[in-house]
Amino acid sequence: MRCTLIFFLFLQGWVFSVQTDYDAAVVGTSPISMLEAFYHLSKGEKVLILESDEVCGGAWKSIDICGIEHVDLGCHLIGSDSRLKEFFESYFGCKFLCLQHPQQLANEVHERCANGYYFSQGCFELISHLEAAIKALPNAVLLHKKLESIFIDPERESIELSFGGSRCSTAKLIVTPSSQFRVENPSFSNQEPRAHLYPHLYLLIEDDVPASFTYLNGITKGMSRAMNLTSFLKFPKHNLQLIVIQTHSKNELEDGERFFKAFVDQSYLSSNARIIISDHYSYNQSYMNVSGVSQLGGKLVEVLDTSSFYGMVRYLEKWKSAMIPLQLAN
Ligand SMILES: Cc1cc2nc3c(=O)[nH]c(=O)nc-3n(C[C@H](O)[C@H](O)[C@H](O)COP(=O)(O)OP(=O)(O)OC[C@H]3O[C@@H](n4cnc5c(N)ncnc54)[C@H](O)[C@@H]3O)c2cc1C
Repeated sequence: MRCTLIFFLFLQGWVFSVQTDYDAAVVGTSPISMLEAFYHLSKGEKVLILESDEVCGGAWKSIDICGIEHVDLGCHLIGSDSRLKEFFESYFGCKFLCLQHPQQLANEVHERCANGYYFSQGCFELISHLEAAIKALPNAVLLHKKLESIFIDPERESIELSFGGSRCSTAKLIVTPSSQFRVENPSFSNQEPRAHLYPHLYLLIEDDVPASFTYLNGITKGMSRAMNLTSFLKFPKHNLQLIVIQTHSKNELEDGERFFKAFVDQSYLSSNARIIISDHYSYNQSYMNVSGVSQLGGKLVEVLDTSSFYGMVRYLEKWKSAMIPLQLAN
């Protein structure tokens, strides 16, 4: 009788520890989160990806602005590490351009790019390739829903997720410092997330000379950095340029004319250039106490380091151990 009881309890514990709806759930779709999701899918796991935005990408998503589709949200640098470039080329079929030197933009990527490489169609190329790769694998569930709360159950070795009126369970929760949700465990003290706003001003410019830069650090007061996105977009007219400026604060979103004058004065635009449309978009990034969630969840929770794009090299070998390069997959 005692043996039966012990066996029953053991069985119950075993059943509880393995029966979850998902093997892994990933919160958010910035590039590192998508790649981590793809890695778990490549291992044959069932993966839930939750993204509260209508589109994927986080700070790397693209937006429609100034009447143009698939425009990068903000200014980006991905560095010049050839391991990253090769990884995106072989596993996702991405193409690259050299940042900075306009005369090289239409040509092959140069070995020494001053500001590194960039995706030939900007963020849209990166995120659309990752999204297509994820959706092509069985067992991927990508929902545009916000994860509202979680309950960590260490005894059952599972985490319950609550979103859009549904509840399901996962054996592993993968988050980033910018994931935001409530923790239902009474021992956890939920705090207000810290929010940071990244304002961006977009200037659609008519100029009779071609784009003379791709990436610049701030050239005048209130400008953090700027990117001329023209080379990464398909324009209807050859004399148009789209420039995005990351400003220090929302106040400088009114300073389009002043920034434009700085570009002309410093010969980044010709004296015949003029602004056709000016618009803005601000990205709000919030941070929660993910280390507290990680402490509470132990091995059930993984916090990805998403602080920089090039930092993803630390994950490359792990990802490559499960992923299949495109030429072998086809
Ligand atoms: C504007 C900007 C530009 C940057 N440019 C560079 C750069 O050029 N080079 C570089 O190395 N680094 C850059 N960074 C830093 C870093 O690469 C990015 O911050 C990176 O995207 C961080 O990834 P993340 O997932 O932590 O946050 P985010 O990119 O903000 O993504 C978080 C995602 O999670 C979603 N989400 C959050 N909570 C939930 C929830 N509860 N349910 C569902 N979805 C949720 C959000 O909607 C969002 O899509 C930049 C950061 C910003 C803000």
